[in-house]
Amino acid sequence: MTQTDISPEVVQQTIEFHGHSCPGLAFGIRAAELVMARFDRASDEEIVAVVETDMCAVDAIQFLTGCTFGKGNLIHLDYGKNAFTFYRRSDEKGIRIISKPNIFPRQDDELVALQKKKVKEGLIPEEQKRLKEVMAVRTKRIMGASLDELFEVKPASGPIPRKARILESVICQACGEVTMESRTRRLLGQTLCIPCFEAVEKRH
Ligand SMILES: [Zn+2]
Ligand SMILES: [Zn+2]
Repeated sequence: MTQTDISPEVVQQTIEFHGHSCPGLAFGIRAAELVMARFDRASDEEIVAVVETDMCAVDAIQFLTGCTFGKGNLIHLDYGKNAFTFYRRSDEKGIRIISKPNIFPRQDDELVALQKKKVKEGLIPEEQKRLKEVMAVRTKRIMGASLDELFEVKPASGPIPRKARILESVICQACGEVTMESRTRRLLGQTLCIPCFEAVEKRH
C-alpha cells in the first residue's frame, strides 16, 4: 500500500525513535530513502547532511542515514525550509532535496484551524481525535507518493562542509564551565561562554 522502499519494520523503528508518527517524519523517511538510493548509508562520516529545518523530518534523517549531530556529520542551518543537502565525502558529490510546495492539492483549512487552536487554547478530545485523523491522512499520502511527486532534486550549491575539528576547551571566567574555545567571547579582558557574554551585554 505504501510506495516507500523502506521496510515496514524499519519505518516502525523510525517512528519509535521519534516518538510518534507524523507528516514531518514521513517527509524525512522519504528524503532518507531518496538519498540512500543514491549514496550508501553513512558508515563513519562518509555522508554529510546539511538540514535547513529542526523539525520532525530530521529525526528520520538521523536514524536512517546515520548522519547525526553527535558524529558531526549533521549540520543544521536555521532557515526553516524542508530542504536537505547530502554530500558523499569519497567523491564530494552533493544533492539538495527540497519538498515540492503542492503535494497537497489544496490548503487544508481544517488542519490549520485545529493546529492554531491547539497552540492557543488547547483542543477538546473530539478535536484532538480529528487532528490525529487529518495528520494520519497526510502521513499516508506522503508515504504512498512517488519520490518525484514529493521532492525536487538539485545539485548541491557550495562546497562540502569541513570535517568536525577537535578544538581546545577553555573555562568560562564567569560560570566556570568548560566551553569549546571557538564558542567563547572576549569581553573586558575576560573569556566568557555565550550565555555569560549575553548576560553581561544585557546589563549594559
Ligand atoms: Zn513529529
Ligand atoms: Zn559562562
